Amino acid sequence: MQGFFLDRDGVINCERADYVKTWDEFTFLPNVLPALRRLATLNLPIVVISNQSAIGRGLVARATVDAIHQQAQAIIAEAGGRVDDFFVCPHHPALHCACRKPQPGLLEQAAARFKLDLPECLFIGDAITDFQAAKAAGCQSILVKSGRQGAQLQQLMTTDNPAPIVADLAAAVELILSLEQRNYV
Ligand SMILES: [Mg+2]
Ligand SMILES: [Zn+2]
Repeated sequence: MQGFFLDRDGVINCERADYVKTWDEFTFLPNVLPALRRLATLNLPIVVISNQSAIGRGLVARATVDAIHQQAQAIIAEAGGRVDDFFVCPHHPALHCACRKPQPGLLEQAAARFKLDLPECLFIGDAITDFQAAKAAGCQSILVKSGRQGAQLQQLMTTDNPAPIVADLAAAVELILSLEQRNYV
């Protein structure tokens, strides 16, 4: 493994139907801070990959989203964890950009920035579009049930090569750590 990509809403913080527009609306999901501390022990890049169409919809300024990310990053660091960077698609879906998941653009940008081979990377997401983006980019994925599609994830997974589905980020990190351990035996 060379690096980890994490979706934001539904993986790190609670997803809101009306978008996270202020720091007050950003709520860490349970067990996320210790999970990020555990993931950081592997000493590999950890990058958040997030669609934030609220920017393109004019609901929140890009600078505000960046400030929310800096604040989250500081709290994660205080808890002994680490997020190295945030890659955000700010576009309205109607623009059909190359970076809005399920397109692989953001994953490709992050891999280029951190000099990572995508087949050696793993994307943890909560939505089928995360799985599709990972697949399109050629990277591995784990899906978590802590987001809005939690209950239907299994049914939505229409592929003969499905990703593991686990409860939340903490469970995904435990799975990763057990697989990494096995590789080193
Ligand atoms: Mg999500
Ligand atoms: Zn975009």
